[in-house]
Amino acid sequence: QQPVLSIRNLKTYFSGRDADVRAVDGVDIDIDAGQIVCIVGESGSGKSMTSLSVMGLVPRPKGKIVDGQVWFDGLDLLTLSERQISDIRGQDISMIFQEPMTSLNPVLTIGDQLVEVLRRHRKTPKKEALEKATEMLQFVGVARASEIIRSYPHQLSGGMRQRVMIAMAMICEPKLLIADEPTTALDVTIQAQVLELMRRMRDEFGTSIMMITHDLGVVAEMADRVVVMYAGQVVENGSGDQVFSTPLHPYTRALLASVPSVDEEKKTLYSIPGTVPNAARFPEGCRFADRCEYAQASCREAMPDLRELQEGHFVRCGLI
Ligand code: SF4
Ligand code: MG
Repeated sequence: QQPVLSIRNLKTYFSGRDADVRAVDGVDIDIDAGQIVCIVGESGSGKSMTSLSVMGLVPRPKGKIVDGQVWFDGLDLLTLSERQISDIRGQDISMIFQEPMTSLNPVLTIGDQLVEVLRRHRKTPKKEALEKATEMLQFVGVARASEIIRSYPHQLSGGMRQRVMIAMAMICEPKLLIADEPTTALDVTIQAQVLELMRRMRDEFGTSIMMITHDLGVVAEMADRVVVMYAGQVVENGSGDQVFSTPLHPYTRALLASVPSVDEEKKTLYSIPGTVPNAARFPEGCRFADRCEYAQASCREAMPDLRELQEGHFVRCGLI
């Protein structure tokens, strides 16, 4: 069975002052049908830029995909025109972000926005679209859906807006949902409800989910597969069980071993000493060497490859 999404050797660079900033630097990720894949890593690891690259939303003119393929439904998305990709976006692949306010149109009612998605992609007649919109709002747990449908985004709570965003993302029953920190801005109770909702989406529609998060608690709860990114590269990729029970990469092990922070405001679940290297001046060898407690001289000489050490469990470390 073919993966729903296959990212191959993706490289997304930004033009910098003296050198390219290598935000995504040779990433491979596969997502199977109905699978939830969590991409985890600190800020600056390239996880958000990977998802924006898939959606054809790399900020221009500075950002540019310089290499790779993104296979979806037999097509390399990177070769499509702006128009073709925007047809796919919202219909076959949809996306939800951390702050729903930025993706909802403030001057349109919730109902009009949901109806617009269906009419644009599916040419659904207005009355039918309105019924489907109400149904979808009920599915995502919006009480009094017929009332909410006439409201404007600013009249809703953060949790309610995130539900509306999910309804909008799911109304065309996409094959793939990309969720970038979908629950970071929400309080713990609402966060649990939104995660549960995403799982129901997967179960009912078979939607695959690529979820970007820095929250390991969310990963532990949701992930069929875990992809750990560091400095623009994948450093570990395995099933949820493999990564949590036998983490292999020193970076993954440091993340899992670090003490959860009590800073609920920032929602930082972990912190490890040091910082991600500057993406305009990556070292030649292992990019984690400066922070790695196992680093040897040889680690700095050549970049380790991503190797499959157990079936389906990949790691980029020269000493394992
Ligand atoms: Fe650490 Fe060396 Fe492995 Fe890099 S290659 S993670 S520096 S042990
Ligand atoms: Mg991000």
